[in-house]
Amino acid sequence: MTEKTSSKKFDEWFGVPRREIPWYPRIDPGQCVGCGFCVAICGRGVYRYDFESKKPIVAKPYNCLVGCQTCANLCPVGAIEFPAPEGLKKYIAKYKIFVKVKEILEKKFKPVEVKGYKEQMSYIEKTEKEVTKKTLGQN
Ligand code: SF4
Ligand code: SF4
Repeated sequence: MTEKTSSKKFDEWFGVPRREIPWYPRIDPGQCVGCGFCVAICGRGVYRYDFESKKPIVAKPYNCLVGCQTCANLCPVGAIEFPAPEGLKKYIAKYKIFVKVKEILEKKFKPVEVKGYKEQMSYIEKTEKEVTKKTLGQN
């Protein structure tokens, strides 16, 4: 039986199909000492532990939280790698994530009367435009 490579609840990231974003860990089996720490600390079930090889397996790569590198940071031997986080900016621009962030903030914090809110939103819009322009060469 083939194991699913993601769980339904992690299928999207800001409304973007999670599989569109190539962000997940890779383990160097030559370096990994099989301590299992990565399996234990990941709260998203990305890893499974193979008791035969005594090594972890990246069983559900697309469950990985985009931008998270906790397991790589804590692996005692540095056996876990991720793509360069800089590369994520391309997807943030492509899928206009800042627009979605703005919508989330508005919905969540009902900010009409909050001091400085409009300025902050203008800043977010400006940032989004700048990132898009820089990354994709669009206005
Ligand atoms: S934390 Fe590092 S050394 Fe330990 S099992 Fe995971 S990859 Fe291997
Ligand atoms: S980066 Fe975070 S979410 Fe992704 S596998 Fe590691 S601990 Fe889990």
